[in-house]
Amino acid sequence: MVLLAPGSAAELAERARAGLRDTFGSEAAVVGRAPGRVNLIGEHTDYNGGLVLPVALPHATYAAAAPRSDGVVRLASAQEPDPFTGIVDHLGPGEARGWSAYAGGVLWALREAGHDLPGLDLYVDSSVPLGAGLSSSAAIECAVAMAAVGILGLDLDDPLRAGLVAACIRAETEVADAPTGGMDQTVAIHGQAGTALLIDFGVGTHEPVALALRDRTILVTDTRVKHALTDGGYGARRADCEKAAAALGVRTLRDATLEAVEALTDDVVRRRARHIVTEIARVRPAVDALGAADWPALGELFAASHASMRDDFEISTPELDLAVSTAVASGADAARMTGGGFGGSIVAVLPTAAVDDVVRAIDHAFSAAGYRSPGHLLVEPSAGASLVG
Ligand code: ADP
Ligand code: MG
Repeated sequence: MVLLAPGSAAELAERARAGLRDTFGSEAAVVGRAPGRVNLIGEHTDYNGGLVLPVALPHATYAAAAPRSDGVVRLASAQEPDPFTGIVDHLGPGEARGWSAYAGGVLWALREAGHDLPGLDLYVDSSVPLGAGLSSSAAIECAVAMAAVGILGLDLDDPLRAGLVAACIRAETEVADAPTGGMDQTVAIHGQAGTALLIDFGVGTHEPVALALRDRTILVTDTRVKHALTDGGYGARRADCEKAAAALGVRTLRDATLEAVEALTDDVVRRRARHIVTEIARVRPAVDALGAADWPALGELFAASHASMRDDFEISTPELDLAVSTAVASGADAARMTGGGFGGSIVAVLPTAAVDDVVRAIDHAFSAAGYRSPGHLLVEPSAGASLVG
């Protein structure tokens, strides 16, 4: 059994400070922290003007930073071999590449938004698995944004939080070239401990919602099949949704009815749109089920969501399907794949007393199928980005 621990904030911040010292010989002035997330329901709905329901993970990314007076930016990570060196006013699209696009892109976007950032040395370390559908990308972006907030001595009020979300989205979509929809950065900044975040991308609002988990636990299982959001599948789904919206004469699929979608003539476009319309309709009932501890209802919603992603949106994998069916067969109340798809993780809600049995059953099923042994995360709903220490 591989349990991926979140690590303590104090220890991970100290690891980031030590990395900064060892790599660049700099003493950290600040450490920014931002969590990964698991989405409970509402998949691929963010860029369709829909609803999503993510939870911030206790697993997070930590960015230790020291300002420089010469405009040079040096970036390094415990998770990636290649450090990056550039200059602070050349970190935009086409300039910062690979993993450094995520970190450098945020500095670029913050400067574009009018923040007068100096050069800096920055080192990141993280307990969020990379490429597992748990948004290590938003975690690094928002941790870097928080480090910038600390260096500039800004007051983290609501308008600044909104600006940080926007800058991190620009880094991801314009510099790292991953056409994602904004859920990840929103929850990484606005998540609140003990709650999920209901985000409505149609009206641009978000609110914490209570989870009546009591004797239930949220389990995430990373299949360790890497997804890559920049290699086409995600963008292709997004393009199919745009085609459907255009054919239906609506701005986004949020405004489409199931009846209109069922009349679309292109089979692929119809199924893609059907996933979005039915998935959006599942989010509020899931909020109700989670708030009322109605686990049979949540089980049905997660099952329908998973089937829709597997059959209509076609973003599941055999490993995700096996993890979901095994979780449910061995005692989980509800399970579905989560995140962008094409690999990554599942999320399950289960009796806390059943965690051991479910984890062992998934491990056993994976080993019998000849799959890599998966990683498991126990999710205490956690707080959004902050400065450490
Ligand atoms: P996810 O967000 O689901 O983990 P993405 O493909 O969106 O997957 O983002 C993963 C990418 O983000 C990595 O390949 C890397 O480029 C970058 N990244 C995330 N966390 C880190 C980190 N701690 N250090 C360096 N790069 C990171
Ligand atoms: Mg990501």
